[in-house]
Amino acid sequence: AKSWILKKHFEGFPKSSDFELKEVELPKIKDGEVLLQTVFLSVDPYMRPYSRRYMKEGDIMIGGVVAKVVESKNPTYPVGAFVVSNAGWTTHFISSGKGLQLMLREWPEKLPRSLALGTIGMPGLTAYFGLLEVCRMKPGETVLVTAAAGAVGSVVGQIAKIKGSKVVGCAGSDEKVAYLKQLGFDETFNYKTIGSLEEALKKASPDGYDCYFDNVGGEFSSVVLNQMKKYGRIAVCGAISLYNDTVEQKGNYVQIPMIFQELCMEGFIVSRWDNRREEGLKALLKWVEEGKIKCPEHVTEGFGNMPAAFMGLLKGENTGKAIIKV
Ligand code: NDP
Repeated sequence: AKSWILKKHFEGFPKSSDFELKEVELPKIKDGEVLLQTVFLSVDPYMRPYSRRYMKEGDIMIGGVVAKVVESKNPTYPVGAFVVSNAGWTTHFISSGKGLQLMLREWPEKLPRSLALGTIGMPGLTAYFGLLEVCRMKPGETVLVTAAAGAVGSVVGQIAKIKGSKVVGCAGSDEKVAYLKQLGFDETFNYKTIGSLEEALKKASPDGYDCYFDNVGGEFSSVVLNQMKKYGRIAVCGAISLYNDTVEQKGNYVQIPMIFQELCMEGFIVSRWDNRREEGLKALLKWVEEGKIKCPEHVTEGFGNMPAAFMGLLKGENTGKAIIKV
């Protein structure tokens, strides 16, 4: 098995030299075990802050994969079955079955299995529960979503449209912004070229925002808070604008708009709804099959390109879900 190792903790923006490719021979599988071959790897922003908090140098990089059972001594996972697992950046692995999720039995042949790492997987569930449970979005409201052309953001915007709201989305290039229009977003802007963010937000929704699905955090979000409507709800999903910072954040106080607009701001991690995973996946699958949710993917070929794809994601190279096809 080949695996990408965290050779050195990231300082600021990750570099190629922070990763190392290692190869090991896996042992023969024992009773109850299966040998899996990775087919797709997920490339996600959380890997950056997660590595700092939870990983040691020398560990295999964390991450979700879609894998195929190639040898089995466990009847629950026969040869040929596909699973989703948090195996990390690795081409092959052995499992006792713990932590493996069989792909939805009714997975339609026409849909790529990589969607189990995107719209019909963790990022889709993040959008679903973040918008419906944390933002508690109601029809007719106005929703703002950042990193809107990404894996989570693109699904947030499309669910908000299905559920009858006005959606404003922003992203970091004109091509992405044009794509958001194709996905049905009502108002869009390129946050890198607008000049005044405050004016762009006011222009897109003069009355302000009921819901803010925050994927970026930082200075941007401080400006948004002052544009929230009374009783607005903010789902703090991610803070990608801060992940590579080397200096501690100062300032950007949230209290004044929180009080005067009586806002509700809540951070969340998608695993809170693990017991409702099936419900979320079924809803997402149905919308995808009905053509109500489009699933943009940014697929890079080759396991060796995993670090480059990860660094590219942090720079905004992806439109839609970033995936590696092994
Ligand atoms: P995306 O597919 O959205 O990819 C990341 C995108 O972030 C890039 O394409 C880029 O797009 C944008 N970006 C990068 N740097 C900045 C910056 N400085 N300011 C603004 N935007 C930036 O990733 P995901 O959809 O997988 O994740 C989106 C967010 O959701 C992340 O913050 C992630 O950590 C979080 N998340 C949280 C979960 C939870 O359980 N709470 C679960 C999953 C994701 P652009 O060109 O528009 O700048």
